[in-house]
Amino acid sequence: MSPTAAQQLVYGPVPSRRLGRSLGVDLVPLKTCTYDCVYCQLGRTTSRTVRRGRWADPDAVVAQVRDRLSSRPDFIALAGSGEPTLHAGIGAVVDGIKAITDVPVAVITNGSLLGRPAVRRGLAAADVVLPSLDAPSEELFLRVNRPQESLHLADLVDGLVSFRDAYQGEIWLEVMLLAGMTARAPQVRRLAELAAQISPDRIQLNTAVRPPAESLAEPVDWATLDAFAALFTPHAEVIADLPVSAGNGVAAEADVLELVSRRPCTVTDIASGLGIHHGEALKAATALVNQGAAELHTHEGRSFYLAAPSADPKREEEKA
Ligand code: SF4
Repeated sequence: MSPTAAQQLVYGPVPSRRLGRSLGVDLVPLKTCTYDCVYCQLGRTTSRTVRRGRWADPDAVVAQVRDRLSSRPDFIALAGSGEPTLHAGIGAVVDGIKAITDVPVAVITNGSLLGRPAVRRGLAAADVVLPSLDAPSEELFLRVNRPQESLHLADLVDGLVSFRDAYQGEIWLEVMLLAGMTARAPQVRRLAELAAQISPDRIQLNTAVRPPAESLAEPVDWATLDAFAALFTPHAEVIADLPVSAGNGVAAEADVLELVSRRPCTVTDIASGLGIHHGEALKAATALVNQGAAELHTHEGRSFYLAAPSADPKREEEKA
């Protein structure tokens, strides 16, 4: 039996600045997270928790991944609608996917639960883990990440260091810098010191390029990011914007709607994620707006398409 929209746990491939065309695996309900980051592109956290759950059956998740492997993704990315390590069965999902495909498995996590041995064990077989470190001080941790009250920056760093000691795969640390908050030289130097303790394979600087949960989360210009990159060891990369798609297929509006229900997308994101021509992506996105199924928002001079709340199956699921 094919899953209903409410049970659809695997989506894409979607364009990812770090992972190319990645098949997304959504392990937690929108929006379940240990944080409520001001820059979150998924909007505000509705369930801020450190309690792990089993929202989806790991075998069902793996079966859905198997069904989508013909899309030939570059990565299978466990991420989605919140913090994936909150799923207590994430280890079974990672192991199950590794057993059926050679496509590398990535876990995009805020890292807040890596202090727990069970979480570290669960990610052991992943090829790449992409944790976040956004704050150089407890005060900024509270302002930027707005964590569940039992979480503290020192524990986050300790957890990441413990994970580095035990984990054999690649760690790509993302540092999100926000204008007027963390994008100042003294703060970035302290972030670089913390990152050096963690010793990741790569450090990737990002900023709020997509519509954030809070308007106070303002992006940094690329020249500033580039200058800050030199403060990190290894030298940080500034995550570049998406490449223009070379695809020339035809857009199915349902596929575009599914994509923009996951996160805000530019036309280029849609074209790259679905492997279709830019013009086809624009045509489908415009049609969805005209039907009232999607909305067009402008952020920092760029246009993003989002599913309208009434047309977003994930929002419907959340209301149920
Ligand atoms: S950005 Fe990530 S860690 Fe922060 S609230 Fe959103 S899902 Fe959670």
